[in-house]
Amino acid sequence: MNKIDRPSPQNKPAKLVDPFGRAIDYIRVSVTDRCDFRCVYCMAEEMTFLPKSELLSLEELEVVCRNFMRLGTRKIRLTGGEPLVRRNIMHLIRNLGAEVKSGNLDELTITTNGSQLEKKAEELAEAGVRRLNVSLDTLDADKFQLITRWGALDKVLAGMKAARKAGLQIKLNTVALKGVNEDELGDMVAFAGDEGFDMTIIEVMPMGDIGNENRVDQYLPVSVVRTRLEKRFTLTPSDYATAGPARYVEVGETGRRLGFITPMTHNFCESCNRVRITCTGQLYMCLGQDDHADLSRALRGGGEAGLQEAIYEAIGRKPKGHDFVISRREARNVGRMMNVTGG
Ligand code: SAM
Ligand code: SF4
Repeated sequence: MNKIDRPSPQNKPAKLVDPFGRAIDYIRVSVTDRCDFRCVYCMAEEMTFLPKSELLSLEELEVVCRNFMRLGTRKIRLTGGEPLVRRNIMHLIRNLGAEVKSGNLDELTITTNGSQLEKKAEELAEAGVRRLNVSLDTLDADKFQLITRWGALDKVLAGMKAARKAGLQIKLNTVALKGVNEDELGDMVAFAGDEGFDMTIIEVMPMGDIGNENRVDQYLPVSVVRTRLEKRFTLTPSDYATAGPARYVEVGETGRRLGFITPMTHNFCESCNRVRITCTGQLYMCLGQDDHADLSRALRGGGEAGLQEAIYEAIGRKPKGHDFVISRREARNVGRMMNVTGG
């Protein structure tokens, strides 16, 4: 049964609440599937990207965001692919940032690989962005190149410096990779502390086809990481919670927060009120399941009324939880790629 309230002509549109009573007030929007890196856990080196005609235009992305805002969205995260490589993306960021300035949105945040920050940090801050998630898996330049294939560590570090100078708060996102950065994670926690960044350590998720790389080889349980970090740091469970899926601890030695995202070893679904919109306008109600709604078709065929109806209908189907499985011998997958859905 679809329990969500629908809008009526007399009333303002009802807020979105899913069948399990979770208010949907946070959306993640992938603005492009393209990227200037080729991280081994995210993409194959040879990628075929979507034709432009399949992507939502920047104007359409804005219409989708604004309709979610009418239905109660208070926080928008832009992601990708690499959001800052989409042409004219600053136009969308400025328009949504204006809604933060006028109080219609609580927050506009961006998840980025940091490659463009040196150029764009100041502009982002001026536009109304206050916080960034920057993905950084290693502080070793050679390893950085090994992981990202096409990236350069010094550029990202310079970008983070520029972001800090512009007054942007940074949280590091670090994927724990077996045999690659596992020996470095303690140093990265210390680095985050020195720089004044919170940090989240993420388990590899089985998303999409990544060519010859093997997820089972990459998989390092975050529970193992945490046990190792506890030998060096005093980790005190914190009741701090963001709209994201991380469970946080306070690091006694640095005073910063450290989050763990453990989609494989712990089901973080119960409190999940997040939905994701892909760069092609597909609304996924759960990162780990394939059920989705085609907002692009709804918008292009039925205008904003059709779009809102499609959103209501889809939120009424948001599942209670997901279904990833990764075991020593098996890496079962949801078919789509992280760069299309957005991390
Ligand atoms: N390009 C931007 C970046 O790297 O921050 C934004 C998009 S990226 C898909 C978002 C986040 O997803 C990054 O922190 C990345 O490390 C993470 N990610 C990508 N593929 C992943 C996977 N298979 N498992 C876990 N995290 C993944
Ligand atoms: Fe690009 Fe981010 Fe995927 Fe790396 S994780 S390939 S930076 S989209």
